[in-house]
Amino acid sequence: MIDDFGFPHPVGCIDTKEVAPSDPISATYTRLITAYEFFNHRLFAERLPYRLITLQRRSGTFGYFAGDRFGTRDRTAIADEIAMNPVYLREHRLEEVLQTLTHEMVHCEQRHFGKPSRAGYHNKEFAAMMRRVGLVTSTTGLPSGNPTGIASLVSTLRATAVALEGSSGG
Ligand SMILES: [Zn+2]
Repeated sequence: MIDDFGFPHPVGCIDTKEVAPSDPISATYTRLITAYEFFNHRLFAERLPYRLITLQRRSGTFGYFAGDRFGTRDRTAIADEIAMNPVYLREHRLEEVLQTLTHEMVHCEQRHFGKPSRAGYHNKEFAAMMRRVGLVTSTTGLPSGNPTGIASLVSTLRATAVALEGSSGG
């Protein structure tokens, strides 16, 4: 099902009754946050820290991760940013949106528990972390491409499909 804002409802993942239909800001963010919490639970053993999900229309990108992007004035609370492109939310299939979200969550995981290379670069460790959640990286966008480098996302739907299937019973 696709709603008025173009963001399909993840099956069993998000209770749309909680969201006022006239409030696209809450509707969109509630769905993204719920999906984030769902994947943090299912795929990352709840170990990802706070994050702030934003909507950014940066051209040529579906989403991005920026560590320590936001904080309170006294620096007692710091949050990473996971940005999603709202144009992309409207135009792509739910699986692709959730893969992008999961991809950015892996960047978050690597930042806090691994050794990231420079921004935007997918190193060997990143490729391995992606495989662990059922996704692969490829420089060419094809399965035959190099898994490391400045990469485009290639999906295997496995993790997302398994996670969504498991959620339908509650
Ligand atoms: Zn990436």
